[in-house]
Amino acid sequence: MTTAPLRLRLDTAALVHNWRTLDAMSGRAACGAAVKADGYGLGAVGVAERLAGAGCRDFFVATWAEAGMLAPLGLQVSVLHGVRAADMGAALAGIARPVLSTPAQIARWRAAGGGACDVMVDTGMNRLGVAPADVAAGLLDGLAIETLMSHLACADEDVPMNARQRDAFAALAGRTGAKRMSLANSSGIALGPDYAFDLTRPGLALYGGRQRAGHEAIRQVVFPEAEVLQRRTVRAGETVGYNATWTAPADTEVAILNIGYADGYFRGFSSRGAALAGEVRLPVLGRVSMDLLAVGVDAAGTREGDWLTLDYDLPAAAAASGMSQYELITGLGRRFERVWAEAA
Ligand SMILES: *Cc1c(COP(=O)(O)O)cnc(C)c1O
Repeated sequence: MTTAPLRLRLDTAALVHNWRTLDAMSGRAACGAAVKADGYGLGAVGVAERLAGAGCRDFFVATWAEAGMLAPLGLQVSVLHGVRAADMGAALAGIARPVLSTPAQIARWRAAGGGACDVMVDTGMNRLGVAPADVAAGLLDGLAIETLMSHLACADEDVPMNARQRDAFAALAGRTGAKRMSLANSSGIALGPDYAFDLTRPGLALYGGRQRAGHEAIRQVVFPEAEVLQRRTVRAGETVGYNATWTAPADTEVAILNIGYADGYFRGFSSRGAALAGEVRLPVLGRVSMDLLAVGVDAAGTREGDWLTLDYDLPAAAAASGMSQYELITGLGRRFERVWAEAA
């Protein structure tokens, strides 16, 4: 039995609800799941098992090491970062499909007699992917393409670039032997049915991120919880924490929690974040330390040994800390015990 003084409570029902919501929003398209970066920090195996149980069939990771972690589950996995020479052994062993994104990768895959693959096309983000002109010139001819993909640069904004990328991608329909086409990430799903194609690839919204209108039904999945190591009274005029940035305006009851920026509870939450005791907000006081955090508990009867939940609703936490929802969730560190609360 581990007795870690901090844990991530992970809500299985909310995760499954979010996938079903995104699946419904995807219309006739299938809805997959991006589980790269260890399931955005939740634990890729735990996420993939639960989503596979809910009916999800397509999983996306960044690297072959990540694909290897999922291999025992026997799922259909695509590796978004393609296949380097060093990855060919793993790729030819068939634990996942590479998402080929350069002419060199395509040549390597052909030369090795690789079978089914996916291909990334760049439609304007200028990140990974082959050029549409090269596709038109026959670069992909003869490849056994399962899914042709592209990726939206600005799906969380209402800008003309979204439609430009969609149109450039749609123009490739029928130009390759691809069985399916896939464009939309979490925010792209909310752009409407003409962004869904045959398969969607949400990540952030599965885990409770809400980046734009249309994701109101998405629920929080990740709840960081930390144990109170000490409770103290800070007298009026005294200060709390490094650099003495918070001064008590009156005698204040303070709880010291076992969590800090080394756990991904970043310094941007200093004097801006909060813990929750039920409905009561307990403000962060002063600087976040590496491993410790002070919160004011005048409003709650918090005692040494109690557990408090940090306010980690992603849109609000991003606004408070000045970090992106993606950074907040993927940054949650290794010292948490990850505890899945199963659906009732
Ligand atoms: C990370 C990623 C996704 C998922 O994006 P979210 O914004 O987290 O939904 C989808 N497709 C590709 C290519 C990605 O890199």
